[in-house]
Amino acid sequence: MLRGARTPIERARFPVIDIHTHLCWAEEQVSGIEMSGSRRYLATPADLLPVMDRMNVRALVNLTGGWGTGLGESVTQFDIAEPSRFYTFTTPDFGRVLEPDYSRSQADAVVDAHRAGARGLKILKTLGLFLREGVTTGPLIGVDDARFDPMWDVCGQLRIPVAIHVSDPAAFFRPVDRFNERYEELSAHPDWSFHGGDFPSKAQLLAARDRVFARHPNTQFLALHVGNFAEDLEHVSGCLDRFPNVSVDIAARIGELGRQPRAARKFFDRYQDRVLFGTDATPQGYDMPQQLFGEQLYEIYFRFLETPDEYFDYAPCDIPPQGRWRIYGLELPEDILIKVYNHNAVRLLGENTQT
Ligand SMILES: [Zn+2]
Repeated sequence: MLRGARTPIERARFPVIDIHTHLCWAEEQVSGIEMSGSRRYLATPADLLPVMDRMNVRALVNLTGGWGTGLGESVTQFDIAEPSRFYTFTTPDFGRVLEPDYSRSQADAVVDAHRAGARGLKILKTLGLFLREGVTTGPLIGVDDARFDPMWDVCGQLRIPVAIHVSDPAAFFRPVDRFNERYEELSAHPDWSFHGGDFPSKAQLLAARDRVFARHPNTQFLALHVGNFAEDLEHVSGCLDRFPNVSVDIAARIGELGRQPRAARKFFDRYQDRVLFGTDATPQGYDMPQQLFGEQLYEIYFRFLETPDEYFDYAPCDIPPQGRWRIYGLELPEDILIKVYNHNAVRLLGENTQT
């Protein structure tokens, strides 16, 4: 019954680069592993540009661009057709991990992808949670497995960022019972639970990821979803303090940041040069569980970052998808807002354009 201020934000105050979207997905996926570089498209630039223009979203970064011919098509349809409005990242072909020369050939594939126009490398949570020694069977392959070292290094040499998703929300590693704060979500999607079985703990997964950050100081990593630990900003701060080659995005985590507005505001102050705007948006019609692209989604993100509004929904749904709570706006000052909306992304993407 609470009645609070409602400050509609129809356009972002500064041009926005959304560093985390999915405009296409792998044609073929087995047990969470992309088995093909070819893509299934969810939208065309013509579908997306009118919404982007209305909301002041200057560019979308499509993280899941695939590899090979699939990647080439993504780049042609988006990046080349609409320069500076779309950027495509490549993904590794983990299905080939058993091949004897995989370590080298995967690094070479990233070089090829970069030549074909990819602006970064995306690592899905596949690594650490799905990819196994027999691809889909056998023991899990560690995030810090030495086979991937050449791949991380080559990204540093090419000066392209690695957008990396490791582990998942803390609640997904806890028993799915009445004490789990995301019980409804996990009941609806039991396969999102990584509790039990042979899954590593969240702490083990993040520790392995941090060893990768430490071993590859010349590679820029974008630790997605607030470093995959938005529930514990002290932990994320520790990671950012230890590794100057790491930055974070806020995609699909305003529900977490917005329920701790004072800690979140301090976090934005302190790491204002290393926090990037992202949503995890996907165009409508997608069968993946991300947030749907559109005005409503962006309005909530802008309201969260720009206004002092209190206790509002973090998602454009009747039932909050990540847990039954609401959020508080941060009212970021303009100098921080412009960095989060675009300057930090411009730097990470190595864009040489104006904003
Ligand atoms: Zn995503």
